[in-house]
Amino acid sequence: MDLKKAVFLDRDGTINWDENGYINNPDDFHLYPYAGKAIAELNKMDFLIFVVTNQSGVARDIYKIQDIEAIHDKMNICLKEFGAHIDEIFFSPYHKHGKITPYNVDHEDRKPGLGMFKKALKKYNFIIKNSFMIGDRYADIAFGKKAGLTTILVLTGNGEKEFFQKRNDREYKPDFVVKNLMSAAKLMQWMKDK
Ligand SMILES: [Mg+2]
Repeated sequence: MDLKKAVFLDRDGTINWDENGYINNPDDFHLYPYAGKAIAELNKMDFLIFVVTNQSGVARDIYKIQDIEAIHDKMNICLKEFGAHIDEIFFSPYHKHGKITPYNVDHEDRKPGLGMFKKALKKYNFIIKNSFMIGDRYADIAFGKKAGLTTILVLTGNGEKEFFQKRNDREYKPDFVVKNLMSAAKLMQWMKDK
């Protein structure tokens, strides 16, 4: 069987609105209006889809692991309405300045660390070359670059701010900068057709 390629997606500010800080419960979770359709397009292109999300609110005692799971249940239900699905969601509850043990540590799972990438690779054994990372922060771009992925910065969420603040001093330059997740999906379709 041919190995598949993968798309790693950041969550907050990439798939869903991230304008009000930490998302504590499913009622505060809302997909961007185009996100379901964009992910369905990526499914049609036969990519494996992984979400990789830093959720340091657990370490910081803002919400619990169960809250993240409830939010992800809602995300999966919302995406299903668009015929979209995610193969696996990875999240990192860690932060070294947190107060909740055992999550108050500097952990490789926290982007730009590659812990979540390594877990996905071990379990799914995809082709790294021509796989993608899409996110709204430079931590996402650094994660993708270190992993050998093609990187796309979206300007939604924190993307616009990060782009203007860090475009000159960033260590990792994104391969592409696009308006949003739908633009990213269209770009990938275009590249596939070339
Ligand atoms: Mg984000």
